[in-house]
Amino acid sequence: MTVPFPMTILSLPQATVILSRKTRMERLQEYQAENEKIKSAQYVLIVGGGPTGVELAGEISFDFPEKHVTLVHSGSRLLEFIGPKASAKTLQWLTSKRVEVKLEQRVDLNSITDSNGSKIYHTTAGESIKADCHFICTGKPLGSEWLKGTILKNNLDGQGRLMVDEYLRVKGRKNIFAIGDITDVPEIKQGYLAQKHALVAAENLKLLMAGGKDRKMSTYKPGSSTAIVSLGRRDAVAQFPYTTLIGIFPGMIKSRDLFVGKTRKQRGLQPR
Ligand SMILES: Cc1cc2nc3c(=O)[nH]c(=O)nc-3n(C[C@H](O)[C@H](O)[C@H](O)COP(=O)(O)OP(=O)(O)OC[C@H]3O[C@@H](n4cnc5c(N)ncnc54)[C@H](O)[C@@H]3O)c2cc1C
Repeated sequence: MTVPFPMTILSLPQATVILSRKTRMERLQEYQAENEKIKSAQYVLIVGGGPTGVELAGEISFDFPEKHVTLVHSGSRLLEFIGPKASAKTLQWLTSKRVEVKLEQRVDLNSITDSNGSKIYHTTAGESIKADCHFICTGKPLGSEWLKGTILKNNLDGQGRLMVDEYLRVKGRKNIFAIGDITDVPEIKQGYLAQKHALVAAENLKLLMAGGKDRKMSTYKPGSSTAIVSLGRRDAVAQFPYTTLIGIFPGMIKSRDLFVGKTRKQRGLQPR
């Protein structure tokens, strides 16, 4: 069936496979299984030192300080999406929690060997790492591949992002807007910025649908380079426009509940 669209907003970035959408119960069971995996392991390997890998390493080292966590990252510093100061502070924090961080090498997942019940992982730098389980935190490609088969195929940049103008309208299109990580807006891809996009795009859609003129549309200015990465349940590292902080203060903003309470409140739901 073809759905005609007078006006559209697209927001479908990370490659979550729609066909494999799971129920809440299935998701909870999945998380439970992952939790059991960590509980029963003595040695845990995390592959990837972006926000997912760093947050996971922080959480495991906080909740299970007795476990040996190794984090392998192919880049020369952790959290490459923010500044080097934040990377250095994060490395120091993880090391102080006995997380072993190995930079500039990759784990070869095709050459895992066995040793006395544990697995041995090999890296491109020739190192061997003992681990009972591993977590891949290397990020997902953008989920925009399918757009190549649509009228928007020429609106994607080299990274698969939708090119938008200052009104968040897909360039060259009158009635298609895009928001969130999928856009090529030059800023760090963050959820709170996606929410700001939504407000601008919704306002512009309402205006156009009411017959308003293009020139009356609201414009979006790219956000600042603010980002917070949690480190366990108490601490976090935060990059603000003029400073980088680590510890309890940024942790108070994010790490207690990872913005779940705030987001539920915004949606008119009970905090829990
Ligand atoms: C570890 C980590 C920590 C982060 N911490 C923060 C933070 O503290 N603060 C912050 O602001 N941001 C944070 N972010 C970034 C934030 O998660 C993203 O910027 C935000 O989720 C982007 O929202 P979105 O709606 O653009 O995309 P998504 O949240 O990825 O949502 C896109 C949705 O589209 C769906 N979809 C995909 N393809 C299709 C299709 N073909 N048809 C229909 N639906 C489709 C997907 O299933 C998904 O539900 C963090 C990210 C990571 C990885």
